[in-house]
Amino acid sequence: MRKPFIAANWKMNKTLSEMKDFFTVFIPLTVNKSNADIVIAPPFTLLNPASEIIKGTKIILAAQDVFYEEKGAYTGEISPLMLVDTGCQYVIIGHSERRQYFGETDEIVNKKIIASKKAGLGIIFCIGESLQEREAGRTFEVLQKEIQKGLNEIEPSKLVIAYEPIWAIGTGKTATTEQAQEAHSFIRKQLIKLYGNIASELCIIYGGSVTPENIDSLMACEDVDGVLVGGASLKPESFARIVDFKQS
Ligand code: PEP
Repeated sequence: MRKPFIAANWKMNKTLSEMKDFFTVFIPLTVNKSNADIVIAPPFTLLNPASEIIKGTKIILAAQDVFYEEKGAYTGEISPLMLVDTGCQYVIIGHSERRQYFGETDEIVNKKIIASKKAGLGIIFCIGESLQEREAGRTFEVLQKEIQKGLNEIEPSKLVIAYEPIWAIGTGKTATTEQAQEAHSFIRKQLIKLYGNIASELCIIYGGSVTPENIDSLMACEDVDGVLVGGASLKPESFARIVDFKQS
């Protein structure tokens, strides 16, 4: 039985006071109301104060990125151990914005996953095709390559796969439930090839313009076990409604 996994990716948004305002509204709206794992990934600057604010709630803290070295002369970078130190339990790795704007390759993604797992972090591993790749009929090929390379030598504990079609991120264009289910089912088959039956217990979550309006139908798909939410996770009422999705 897979537990729903609902994660917020705040990207480069919110100051300390904005975050405090968010939690003042969000925590009472969600407390004791959901069986899902609720995960929030604020920017690095807010990890420590967020960790204090969410103490005693069931909210889980995540980071949006990490570097693969343990320590040393890597100006501006953050190590897996530093994330653990702030109270993070998960880290998002391979987000398409990292791949697109910061030149992250599958090999770098793989190194980051290896280093983060070594430090005990859970991984939210993002994969997904561009519009061009989808229109060229290459969606499965891209997903297969990202899985093979990204998960090379990775064992499956505390591993969550986020299917995020790039054309649906921040665009207001959500994948249809058929497109999401088709991709998730393909991903699960790839994971079964890699890991055997244990893959049926892994959470595969969907990301790309998730909103309070489309959450219920997405969560009704057999292989959609949760969501990774950008824009709609910034407002407490909107993210609370997503966390409180209606099971069909
Ligand atoms: C994301 O960045 O992971 C994302 C899914 O963003 P949005 O919900 O804004 O499309």
